[in-house]
Amino acid sequence: MKRSFEFIVNPIAGPRDNVKYFKQLKAKLRERGISFDSKKTKRAGHAPKLVKKRLVKSEAVIVSVGGDGTFNEAASVLVGTSREMAHIPRGSGNGLARMLKIPGKIDQIPDYLERGVGRLIDVGKINDDYFFCTCGFGFDALIAHDFSKSETRGFWTYARSVFNQFWSYRGVEVHLVLDGEDLSGRFFTVTFANANQYGNDAFIAPHADLQDGLLDVTFIRPFPLVMAPVLALALMGKWIHKLPNVEIRQVKTVEVRSIASAYFHCDGDVYDAQMPVKISLEEKALNLLVPGQ
Ligand SMILES: [Mg+2]
Repeated sequence: MKRSFEFIVNPIAGPRDNVKYFKQLKAKLRERGISFDSKKTKRAGHAPKLVKKRLVKSEAVIVSVGGDGTFNEAASVLVGTSREMAHIPRGSGNGLARMLKIPGKIDQIPDYLERGVGRLIDVGKINDDYFFCTCGFGFDALIAHDFSKSETRGFWTYARSVFNQFWSYRGVEVHLVLDGEDLSGRFFTVTFANANQYGNDAFIAPHADLQDGLLDVTFIRPFPLVMAPVLALALMGKWIHKLPNVEIRQVKTVEVRSIASAYFHCDGDVYDAQMPVKISLEEKALNLLVPGQ
């Protein structure tokens, strides 16, 4: 049966003009005879309501158009169902889309939607909420907090914030339990990765697999300032696990017992984590369309 689609469009995700983009995309879809409907989100937290409405009204594949945050909101409704979902990356980081080679170019989208293959992927869980890329605490959460307060978006906003915060940051003291084993220490960041990257091809967990039922937990210990460029290169070059101050563990569950920091992030957005924080996975719980051959 030919698929039809229900687009949930975040008009203000990412650094570029999504309204103009979606207009062009609609023209392309009509040209190809693809059947669809669309709704725009009006505010953060609106996407789940739109998705729930569409689920009872039609059999269409839900397609989120936006960043990792928009995807998170829409996909969270579909976790645990077998309903197919697709995503068109228009955010600042686009971690999951980059990992799965989901296209953002208008010319490539009809093929992705028509010939895409449903793949069951693992979904991360932090307390009662889901994450699809990464969540965690430490320096990256501080940056997410900065980013949320910023009036501009995109890569350079991230870069500026990283540069400004780095000089005074001293790491965070934490007590964790990983699959029943205690671990305490001071870390620059600790990241719980379902996908292999934060977004922008910054690979925080180069070997993370979306279907192995395991979370990759990346611990970065505090490091001298002169190492910062090496860390950046290692992140972009997929070799962060080779650095002496980095350790990656694969586990099923984590509990954060105590932490001396207020900031968590979840899929790049600031997250209000209630203690104790429990992090786990739901295996193969989302049916996501990935590009076909
Ligand atoms: Mg995994």
